[in-house]
Amino acid sequence: MAIERTLSMIKPDGVERNLVGVILSHYEAGGLRIKALRRQQLSLAQGRAFYAVHKKRPFYEELVNYIVRSPVVVSVLEGDNAVTKHRHMMGATNPEEAAADTIRKKYAQSLQENTVHGSDSLENAAWEVSFFFALSEYDYFN
Ligand code: ATP
Ligand code: MG
Repeated sequence: MAIERTLSMIKPDGVERNLVGVILSHYEAGGLRIKALRRQQLSLAQGRAFYAVHKKRPFYEELVNYIVRSPVVVSVLEGDNAVTKHRHMMGATNPEEAAADTIRKKYAQSLQENTVHGSDSLENAAWEVSFFFALSEYDYFN
């Protein structure tokens, strides 16, 4: 297995409901290490840029308004197969379809307010990590 890094974002609904600690615990219990961590209020421009991949989708404006409505918590997660492992811990986009014991099954409120974001490929992980963190914040020898 290859050591990978991926980006997690605890979305506004998760931070608003004080779920930061419980979600970070899922990552650690599942074998991922939190290498960098920050609570941050996204600007409208940052929200638009982060979700630019969805700009043609009908829910784009609504999605951007949601992601900037209150602070998020972003982190860099590291471990074996981290991208896929994190996606499995999160569960399906729609919480009604998410498997038991996943973060979205337990905590998500709706298809949109689904509590966590995770990079969906190694390539997107590299871009998303670099969107939020400088190399010096997570790439060091311990
Ligand atoms: P994320 O990218 O946040 O990890 P995902 O990869 O599971 O989620 P995407 O298809 O990338 O799902 O959608 C991005 C986000 O847009 C979803 O997590 C959800 O918040 C929102 N979303 C997706 N589909 C819809 C929809 N039909 N209506 C409203 N919001 C949606
Ligand atoms: Mg996605």
